[in-house]
Amino acid sequence: MKSMVTRRILNQIYKNSDAINIRSSIKQTRKFCFVSKNTDLENASFQHENYRQRGENLHTDEVLFEMFKNKETGLLSIGKFLNALRATGLRKTDPRLKEFAGILKTMAKGNTDGYSVDVQKLNLNDFKSIITPNIGLISRAFRRQFIIPEFQEFCKQIEEIYWKCKENTNGKVASYIPQLKRMSPNYWGVSICTIDGQRFSIGDVSIPFTIQSCSKPLTYGIALDLLGSDVVHKYVGQEPSGRNFNELILDHNKKPHNPMINAGAIIICSLIKTIARAEMSLAEKFDYTMNYFERLAGNDDLGFNNAVFLSERECADRNYALGFYMKEHKCYPENCTFKECMDFYFQCCSLEATCDQVSVMGSTLANGGICPLSEEKVLKPESVRDVLSLMHSCGMYDYSGQFAFKVGVPTKSGVSGALLVVIPNVMGICLWSPPLDALGNSCRGVQFCEELIKKFNFHLYDNLKHAANKVDPRKHKFETKGLNVVNLLFSAAAGDLPGLRRHMLNGMDMSLPDYDGRTALHLAAAEGHVNCVDFLLKQCQVPYDIRDRWGKTPLEEALTFGHTAVIELLQLWDEQATRSIPAEEDPPIPGMG
Ligand code: GLN
Repeated sequence: MKSMVTRRILNQIYKNSDAINIRSSIKQTRKFCFVSKNTDLENASFQHENYRQRGENLHTDEVLFEMFKNKETGLLSIGKFLNALRATGLRKTDPRLKEFAGILKTMAKGNTDGYSVDVQKLNLNDFKSIITPNIGLISRAFRRQFIIPEFQEFCKQIEEIYWKCKENTNGKVASYIPQLKRMSPNYWGVSICTIDGQRFSIGDVSIPFTIQSCSKPLTYGIALDLLGSDVVHKYVGQEPSGRNFNELILDHNKKPHNPMINAGAIIICSLIKTIARAEMSLAEKFDYTMNYFERLAGNDDLGFNNAVFLSERECADRNYALGFYMKEHKCYPENCTFKECMDFYFQCCSLEATCDQVSVMGSTLANGGICPLSEEKVLKPESVRDVLSLMHSCGMYDYSGQFAFKVGVPTKSGVSGALLVVIPNVMGICLWSPPLDALGNSCRGVQFCEELIKKFNFHLYDNLKHAANKVDPRKHKFETKGLNVVNLLFSAAAGDLPGLRRHMLNGMDMSLPDYDGRTALHLAAAEGHVNCVDFLLKQCQVPYDIRDRWGKTPLEEALTFGHTAVIELLQLWDEQATRSIPAEEDPPIPGMG
């Protein structure tokens, strides 16, 4: 009898490529058996598919119950179920699981025997009543339909990068105000939230810090949403300044270069204050903006650090100088109250959030303005696109050009040591570590980004198909294998020699068979593509006499379809092989001149 692991993998393979044959599956199974871990989650998703495949008319909740129930008692352990759910990236605190968490809480309260709810065992009906309100999300999680299907594997790699960067003790904590100066240089946190709300956090992820310049893309997004890009860009440009973030400089139109530097952000604040919602009082406007930020963070409560605000205002000679310089050049909208605008800018810098919260803000930006957790449309997709474009070109102060080149994902840094990283359509990341490099970016944060991009193909210009040495965590590992076999066989059937070469360079096993045991050599021979047959035999050294499920060899295929050149080549190869002539002494290719 096949082991559980074996059956699971076979099932995954059947599921993910209709074109893969049992023989190849068994072959792959042998390979995977050594690397797979028999986790609850893997078992769960295997069994889920198993039921689906068998066409049993079970509802999803029943299937889930079957997966997790104890075979002897027939009861399901909540703890085991919650662990498996967490492994998919979902948290119990996810607002989309509100009802589920609510019922668990009630159960815990009703637990008079002192045991935690995790050890509670449920029968099918109780289990159904718990998960039914949120069955859609839970079912997607176990079907591995999230953007990062192998979430645990991905997190392991993130953790490795985290520890590597922790050793980096370069940089100095910002010291222009005492509140920032007091920050420990040892703080280091990384939080991730994907566009499907999968969460991962490590390190100091629950300590609030002031978001400082990470507020700039957010206020810019709000201004775009409220006023539209045309109005906003009457007042501020889209060019990198190539200068320091608080440099006393305007562009050739006497406008601030972009909204990611201080001058531009001050103007954006003046637009939100003066043009948008002009009827609101100062206090209302602050609440309104704070509320926007909170909605970006999935309706979590953010803080406001009054001491930082007061300090920022006191130590703001340069920002005031910038403000007056822009006043001289009539950069502000009409009716703007200069002092109030400056205060509003300092207030936005003094908003407090944790790494976890900022990662959710990033995920909202990665998800076109819809917060993955609250599912609320906070910003319009076109506003988000503009925000990301400028984060990409101007988000890292004077390092922006190099960062866009090396890392290639929209990112904004702040003097508190935070980095808001957005991988469009995938995830938001917040990195926080106070020591800054000479250009004002978090040393550990920048290193983390560089390491991340070395490993995963997240750079906007990484090729998703052919970046052979990088991992694409968006793909299911089995799906990738199955699709590659199908592509390989299509190339062979079409006589696409460059396509075959590409597969070989990508390190593919060129003798992999499809569902019917057909290999690239079978197809190239049957279609009479002698150059492909030659390439597969000589360069790839594929076995020449492999049989498909009907017992046919590539030579028999060529004979059936009368491809003389291929027949001669395969027969020569056959003779050589039986005489054991080394492969270097290749016969001439008949019909190839
Ligand atoms: N409060 C800071 C300032 O305006 C924010 C700048 C920053 O984070 N780079 O100077």
